[in-house]
Amino acid sequence: MTKTADLLLTNAIVLAMDENFNLYEPGAVAIQGDSILAVGSEVELKKAFPVKETVDCGGKVLMPGLVNAHTHVPMTMLRGLADDLRLDVWLLGYMMPVEREFVTPDFVRLGTQLACVELIRSGVTCFADMYYFEEDVARATAEAGLRAVCSQTVMKFPAPDAGSFEESLAAAREFIQRWKGHPLIEPSVAPHAPYTCTEEILRLTAALAVEFDVPLHTHLAETALEVENSRNEYGMPVIPYVKKQNLFEAKVLAAHCVHIDEGEIKTLLHHRAGVAHNPSSNLKLASGFAPVTKMLDAGLNVGIGTDGPASNNDLDMFEEMRLAAFLAKATSNDPTSLPAPTALAMATRLGARALHLGHLAGSLEAGKRADLILVDLDSLHNAPRFRRDPNSVYAQLVYAAKSSDVTDVMVNGRWLMRGRLLTTLDESDLLAQTREYAHKIDAFLVEREQSVLSKLIAIGGASEAESFEVQSKVRLEDPAPVMAALQSAGLEILHHRHYHEYDTYFSFGDSKQGHLRYREDEFIDDKGEVSNVRYRLTLIGLARERHFPSDVLLSRSRFIAPATHSLRFYREYFKPGGENFIEKDRMRWRVLFRGTEFYINLDRVEIPDLGTFLEVKSRTWSRRDAENKAELTADLLRLLGVAPEGGETMDYIEIAERGG
Ligand SMILES: [Zn+2]
Repeated sequence: MTKTADLLLTNAIVLAMDENFNLYEPGAVAIQGDSILAVGSEVELKKAFPVKETVDCGGKVLMPGLVNAHTHVPMTMLRGLADDLRLDVWLLGYMMPVEREFVTPDFVRLGTQLACVELIRSGVTCFADMYYFEEDVARATAEAGLRAVCSQTVMKFPAPDAGSFEESLAAAREFIQRWKGHPLIEPSVAPHAPYTCTEEILRLTAALAVEFDVPLHTHLAETALEVENSRNEYGMPVIPYVKKQNLFEAKVLAAHCVHIDEGEIKTLLHHRAGVAHNPSSNLKLASGFAPVTKMLDAGLNVGIGTDGPASNNDLDMFEEMRLAAFLAKATSNDPTSLPAPTALAMATRLGARALHLGHLAGSLEAGKRADLILVDLDSLHNAPRFRRDPNSVYAQLVYAAKSSDVTDVMVNGRWLMRGRLLTTLDESDLLAQTREYAHKIDAFLVEREQSVLSKLIAIGGASEAESFEVQSKVRLEDPAPVMAALQSAGLEILHHRHYHEYDTYFSFGDSKQGHLRYREDEFIDDKGEVSNVRYRLTLIGLARERHFPSDVLLSRSRFIAPATHSLRFYREYFKPGGENFIEKDRMRWRVLFRGTEFYINLDRVEIPDLGTFLEVKSRTWSRRDAENKAELTADLLRLLGVAPEGGETMDYIEIAERGG
C-alpha cells in the first residue's frame, strides 16, 4: 500500500539531529497525521509519495524542536520578583512566601500560557515541568499544543496545593491516572529534592512512578551545601543516598547534578537516568559547574534546561545552548570541549531521551512525532554563511542564531506558529492579566516589608502567638551573697544550666519595629566544656508595656523561634539599619516560688564590659496574669537579699547603648 504524505516540507536545510547527524540540503520532511513519514533529500522525497500539500521552506533550517529539559513554567509570573540574592534568601524569603499566598490553579494556568508563548516563539516544542497544581499546567500546555512532561511536586512542607505530602502524593496519583496515554502530556511525579523530602517520600514517589511507568522528575546535587549536608546527615553524597531510597527504580530525570563524582555518574548511567543541565540557573545562583563533558563522555543523556524563569530569567533555549558550550570550554580550559553539534544534540535528541521521550521526539526520523521548527538564518547577525564545511550550520545555530530567528513551529503535526504568528494563544490578553497579578504581588510585598514581624512570619520564623515577661534586672557588685541566698532561701530549684551567650541585635530605622535578636547559646557542661549549641531568633517588641511598683516590668511582646538559618541569611533578609553585639556568661536557675515558675539569671556581661546582673523573670501569656507575677517578682528579689533599685531597662542592648 502506498503511503500518502499529508504535508511535504521542501527547500530546507534539514538537520535530522539523529545519531549520524544526517543533514540534507536541499532536504525535505514528509508528515502524515501527527508523525514523520520520511526525512531525506528533496529530490527523493518528492518522488516517494503522493503529497496532499507542499510547503516551501524558503531555504530555512528545518530541525527538531528544542527540548527544555527542566523548568517551572508557571514561575513566569514571578520573573524579576527578587534577584541578586543568596539562594536561601531568594527561595525562603521571597519565592515560597509569595507562592503560598498567590499560587492557585488560575495563577498556574496563566503562568503556563505565558510560558507557552515564550517557548513556542523561541522554538521549543517539548519541556519538562515541575510545579504545583500540575494538572492545570498540563491542561494549559495541551491547549497550547506543546508536548511536556508535567510533574506534580511532592515535598515534606505544606505546598500551595497540598497541606501534607500525602495529599500531594494522592493528587499525583490521580493526575497520572487521568493523563497517562495523552498524545502530548506525559504525567509524572516530582519529589522536589532530597533535602525537601523525607526518605518515605522518595520511596513512595519512586514506587508510584514505577507502578505507572512514568518519569520521576527531581532536583539532585544542585549545590555543594546540599552534598555536604547529605554527607553529614547520611554519611554519603546525594546520588547513593537517593539510590538507597530506590529512586532509580523509576525513570529518573535529574535536574542539575552539579556536584557529583565519577562514581555517581556511573550510577546515573547504570540506571539510565536522564540529566538536565541548567547553565543560566547554575551561573546566576552561583551553584557551581556541572561536569557536563564527563557525563556526556560516559554516555549519559544530558539535556539542557532553563530552570524556572524566576532564576534565569527567561526560557530561551538558544541562550542556554550557547552557555552550555561556553561553560564546558571555560571550565575544562579546552575550546574543543562541547562543540556546537553536541550542544544542539543536547538541546534536542539527548534532551528528549533525558525526559524518557526519545522514542517520540528529539530528532527528525520516520515514525517519530512531527515536532519541528524552521529557523531563518538569512538575517544580519547570522551572515555570511560559509559552505566549505556543511557542518558550519551547527555552529551558526549555537553561536550566532537567536531565538527570534525561529519563524515556524509544529508540534504533533500541528502548526503552533506560522511566519511568527501564534495559532493557539493570544499574547496581549495574557500580558494584561499578568500585569494585574504583578500589581497584587507588589502590594503584598510592600506591606510585608514594612514590618519586621511580618517578614519573620513570612519565612516561618514565628507563629503569630506572642508572650510577655515580667522581669526585673539589678546590677550586682558582688554575686556571692545572692548565690548563697539562692541555695538557702527555701526555693525549689527545678533546673540549673550554664551558658555562654552571643547575641547579635538588629535595629531598624523605625524604632517601633523593636529589636531582632539572633542568639547563639553555648551550653557549658560540668567540665566547663561546650556540650551543645542552640540558635534562637527573638523579636523583642516595643517599649515596656507597663511599669509595676518596685520597678518590676512587664516586658514587651516577644516572638521566639529557633533560628534555622545563618546569621548572614537574616542579615541579608532583614537588612537592619544597625547591629550590636553582646557576649555574656549566664548561670541560670529555673525555680518554683510560691507555686510560680521563675528564671533566675546571673549574667556576667563581657562584651561590652558592663559587670554582673541579676535577672529575675517569669513568662506569661496574658497581661492580666502579669499583675500577680509582678508582686511575686518583687518578693523573690527581697528573698534573694536584693532590693529592686529600679531604672534598669529590659535588655542589655539598651544598657549598652546608654553607655553602660
Ligand atoms: Zn528547578
